[in-house]
Amino acid sequence: MSLFTNSNVTCPNCEAVVNMPAVGSVNADRRPDFRDAILDDSFQVTTCPNCHEAFRLAPLFNYLDVGHGQWLAGLPASRVVDWPEVEDDIDSVFQASFGANVPAAARDVADLLTVRVCFGWPAIREKIYLKGVGLDDVTVEMMKMDLMRRLKDAPFVQGTELRVGAVDDQAFQMVWIDAETEDVRQRFSAQRALYDAITAKPEAWAALRDKLSDGPFVDMQKLFLGQGRVAAE
Ligand SMILES: [Zn+2]
Repeated sequence: MSLFTNSNVTCPNCEAVVNMPAVGSVNADRRPDFRDAILDDSFQVTTCPNCHEAFRLAPLFNYLDVGHGQWLAGLPASRVVDWPEVEDDIDSVFQASFGANVPAAARDVADLLTVRVCFGWPAIREKIYLKGVGLDDVTVEMMKMDLMRRLKDAPFVQGTELRVGAVDDQAFQMVWIDAETEDVRQRFSAQRALYDAITAKPEAWAALRDKLSDGPFVDMQKLFLGQGRVAAE
């Protein structure tokens, strides 16, 4: 079931208080239209009745799509600096729904799901898009790191992220996008051969793959953002 609660949110333009249904969870198997709306960036967008500006509610929800084998937690972009704690929290949330203490049928479903944590709508959209086109998101993050070495004048500032907009047989359409405002800073295309080269040499990329996929936050930002994980004593 998909769940919404009525919430009072403040219009970022005129500061009027606007009541709107805020999403708590999405079941994309039952509501594929919500998945479509996330992919076309219209989900949780509302228009302020006072100033008529459109704005988007920051994400804070869980997303289940058994058909595509995906479960993710979407959090506001501003929480990304807390990613180690959020990874632990989200693991608990997921275990409560699908872990050892739930019926076997739910655990069977869990085995089919890739679990991810995403901060901000661009990251959420990218994970859902990549699952839909059958690409491995860990490989995509490694491709981004490879791209970073090749790019001149990348707008690499805090809050601006490199995301996949679309992909076809030849190329990835990449965007540098502000994680909070979703303002696009720059677009460019990258040859699909870069992705295929990583897939072709798994041993050369194994150490990096391990680092990127040691928890549900699978994003190159985890390698350089904040303190990272403090070594367990
Ligand atoms: Zn307003």
